[in-house]
Amino acid sequence: MSRKRTKQRAAVGVLGKDLTRRAKGRCELCESKTGVRPWELVPFPDEPSMDRTLLACARCREWLEQGEARGMEAQVLTQAVWSEEPAIRLAAARLLVASDFSDDPWIRDALDHAGFDEAQGELVG
Ligand SMILES: [Zn+2]
Repeated sequence: MSRKRTKQRAAVGVLGKDLTRRAKGRCELCESKTGVRPWELVPFPDEPSMDRTLLACARCREWLEQGEARGMEAQVLTQAVWSEEPAIRLAAARLLVASDFSDDPWIRDALDHAGFDEAQGELVG
């Protein structure tokens, strides 16, 4: 994944209420309540979409922004990577690939099951 930093856009704020409801006010990756905010996954669609946006805590947003998740406890993402919501599944898959555990067999399995294409950095199929 590219390490280029992409600024979040203000327009994503329109999803804030719906996201908070979907996420019950918690980070949709690790369930933390610390500094949760909407996070839009790159590349952005024309209009902010619930399928490309998740509510994420300060720590998870930092990992997503850096495209690197060193020191992450991979277990926190075991539930997220199975989510029905594509945005949550995609964010979890991107973090697992960027983690210290990316070669672990269970992570490979989870990524396959999530339909994540590592070369594209996207869900496929
Ligand atoms: Zn989090």
